[in-house]
Amino acid sequence: MTQKDVFKKLVAHCKEYGFVFPSSEIYDGLGAVYDYGQNGVELKNNIKRYWWDSMTMLHENVVGIDAAIFMHPTTWKASGHVDAFNDPLIDNRDSKKRYRADVLIEDLMAKYDEKIEKEVQKAAKRFGASFDEAMFRQTNPRVLEHQAKRDEIHARYAKAMNENDLPGLKAIIMDYDVVDPISGTKNWTDVRQFNLMFSTEMGSTADGAMKIYLRPETAQGIFVNYLNVQKTGRMKIPFGIAQIGKAFRNEIVARQFIFRMREFEQMEMQFFVRPGDEMKWFAYWKEHRLAWHKALGLGDNKYRFHDHDKLAHYANAATDIEFEMPFGFKEVEGIHSRTDFDLSSHEKYSGKNIKYFDPELNQSYTPYVIETSIGVDRMFLSIMSAAYCEEQLEGGDSRVVLKLPPVLAPVKAAILPLVKKDGLPEKAREIMDALKFDFRCVYDEKDSIGKRYRRQDAVGTPFCVTVDHDTLTDNCVTIRHRDTMQQERVSIDSLHDLIDREVNMKNLFRKIMD
Ligand code: ATP
Repeated sequence: MTQKDVFKKLVAHCKEYGFVFPSSEIYDGLGAVYDYGQNGVELKNNIKRYWWDSMTMLHENVVGIDAAIFMHPTTWKASGHVDAFNDPLIDNRDSKKRYRADVLIEDLMAKYDEKIEKEVQKAAKRFGASFDEAMFRQTNPRVLEHQAKRDEIHARYAKAMNENDLPGLKAIIMDYDVVDPISGTKNWTDVRQFNLMFSTEMGSTADGAMKIYLRPETAQGIFVNYLNVQKTGRMKIPFGIAQIGKAFRNEIVARQFIFRMREFEQMEMQFFVRPGDEMKWFAYWKEHRLAWHKALGLGDNKYRFHDHDKLAHYANAATDIEFEMPFGFKEVEGIHSRTDFDLSSHEKYSGKNIKYFDPELNQSYTPYVIETSIGVDRMFLSIMSAAYCEEQLEGGDSRVVLKLPPVLAPVKAAILPLVKKDGLPEKAREIMDALKFDFRCVYDEKDSIGKRYRRQDAVGTPFCVTVDHDTLTDNCVTIRHRDTMQQERVSIDSLHDLIDREVNMKNLFRKIMD
């Protein structure tokens, strides 16, 4: 099965099992907007709690806020979004489809990367154990040729993006014969800039309605509250402010399911530091955030850093944490050194003094900022794509199982009476009533036990607890482990600790801080 097929199946699975639905589906949906179903919202909430608690509990100098989505319009002037939050767009005249020019060029570079990887894999197979990969990459003429092309495109691309050179972007697309995947032609328009912010009006027209924007990032809510939090929380530099909330972008090339949405959710933390200390803290947060991801156990090889070629107007260093999705390595989180750009700009536009007085230095300054910014929905997609497995079982049977990190699973345990009579349902309810204060449990008595196991596998429930006739006399149940399908007989009294060991977030927090 190709990765594309896996992705299609994953999208179908998300819908069938109540994780993600297209928005307003009865009206045929709304482009790149999605709703989370009964299981999806639990997984999403668990992701948010994992992030929130790790930020605000593991770091005594990080506190949270919850700012409004609507903000004074000058905020977006000061942040640079009104003038510079643009995507370079290009249309194909034959297919009438619109693309992001930068994405077309990045896909082009990825094609050369793929070609190189194919050569390496072929050679590795041919030479077996004696294969020297580094040497091969440095000397093989075909690899060198692909690499040279890629480097050439990359150099032109970085220059064009940094200089905002739109004809330069188009020239790359034309020179390297990039064709529209639908029409297959090179009949491209010029590249134009398009602002991604949604706007609406506040107040009635009679008293002069004000044009306001739906926030395209949550970060600005933190910056405009920086002084409020610093003063009321008596925070000392360095300190951080964390926030989780919705953000809106009128994405043009909205595709790949919940990877790129028009309404999405961000988890952002702005860490305020002394000017000059920012690179030290940038390195700290880079490492710390990667540890947070890796603690989930989805596979260390699925992550990589991607340093930015084009720095945003506010940044002096930036990197992405990328995750290997079914459609390649993609950004899940950005870590940016934003300098004092935002605070200085708000100071200028608002006319308010928002400097920090550092008692240790006996000096006032505008703090520098390190930002960690992660999309909840992209995190959700990365977890789902790593967790989705189709397994062939002995005896010709097969199953679909979501190997979700137990900590994040929507349901922790399913309580299943073997039959619907003989007092087993009552006993099962008793167990459920004892466990439900600590864990999300479901009760299910319908269909054969095998079918019920499959249902739980499909939503990623780590434990199934089966109550049988012996339970009534020996006070023991059969607990089945999702990934191994191993079953063991345990006493009802030990259930709580057994489940807790696997699903308690504390274990992940310890891993991160090790
Ligand atoms: P991209 O290059 O993919 O458009 P970005 O660099 O513009 O992303 P940031 O502005 O750094 O993204 O936003 C921080 C995080 O917010 C991203 O790493 C991503 O996880 C998430 N995010 C951004 N845009 C979207 C979107 N349209 N849909 C879902 N998540 C998003």
